[in-house]
Amino acid sequence: MKIKNNILETIGNTPMIRLNRVAKDFPCTVVAKVDYFNPGNSIKDRMALKMVEVAEQEGRLKPGGTIIEGTSGNTGMGLALAACIKGYKCIFVTTDKQSKEKADILKAVGAEVIVCPTNVMPDDPRSYYSVAKRLSQEIPNSCYMNQYDNLANRQAHYESTGPEIWEQTDGKITHLVCTAGTGGTITGTAMFLKEKNPNIQVWAIDVYGSLLTHYYQTGEVDMSYVHPYISEGFGEDFVPKNYDMRFIDHFEQVTDKDGAIMARRLAKEEGLFCGYSAGSCFQGLMQLKHKLKKDDLVVCIFHDHGSRYVGKIYNDQWMMERGFLEVKTCKDIINARA
Ligand code: PMP
Repeated sequence: MKIKNNILETIGNTPMIRLNRVAKDFPCTVVAKVDYFNPGNSIKDRMALKMVEVAEQEGRLKPGGTIIEGTSGNTGMGLALAACIKGYKCIFVTTDKQSKEKADILKAVGAEVIVCPTNVMPDDPRSYYSVAKRLSQEIPNSCYMNQYDNLANRQAHYESTGPEIWEQTDGKITHLVCTAGTGGTITGTAMFLKEKNPNIQVWAIDVYGSLLTHYYQTGEVDMSYVHPYISEGFGEDFVPKNYDMRFIDHFEQVTDKDGAIMARRLAKEEGLFCGYSAGSCFQGLMQLKHKLKKDDLVVCIFHDHGSRYVGKIYNDQWMMERGFLEVKTCKDIINARA
């Protein structure tokens, strides 16, 4: 019988899907590793389960304990699923920039969610990093997962995402393209793939307003490059320990607008109803198209599902208010049909 013992056994082994219409002007094959097929609808299920398993092995998480994390939602969902099956409690600290749907989903799977202000520095006591740390010090039998500096994050991708991509492309992958936040996905996946073939090019996609690209290019932590941005799930205002920049060959920045528009194209033209960062990922690749050759095989990682962004990038009003979408007149609609 082919019966899964619990939901955690459905994590990973996500499909790889060819991009057809959006990639028609590319000289080579472009495919997407569509990780919204994970049970929590994002790639973060992989590292969430790994962080819990490692914390258990190290004795930091004990039966009946409380998992604490600063999360924008996807990591929280993965942790909540693991907590559900393994019998832990969860408290998540998030920011007011994240979609309300994400917090509601976390509550639906039994977590407590605390919302903190976005535009404060990481060391400010009101920041979600600081609040998460403080709670873990004050709540007995609790464990702060810290996805940013916890190397179980990139290890999960070294053990699952990397090998899956290698196998699904019969070892023919030439380029990996991935948005970068904690750095776990890109670093862990790249570490595995470059071990197999050091010539594979790894391109990180970042957002304007994030510190990462300038840090990668200069090694400097220059906060004058940091400004608020709308894109969700990637970009950072510090450099998490999960990065090993030696495995990344290029950083490319994308605007909030271009990422949002591209996510909408992926949904309409490929039937891939993905999150904001998937749009940014493919947009970043589009900006680098001139570097590709005929026999290349490019793999983009699409992190999460579009359902969490229905009130945002998939809402015309939200897009128009930010100048991401033109307001259409009757004349425009008639002309478009002519
Ligand atoms: N996209 C989305 C939607 C995410 O939730 C994340 C995780 N923060 C990323 C991209 C970036 O992945 P990573 O943190 O592994 O760099």
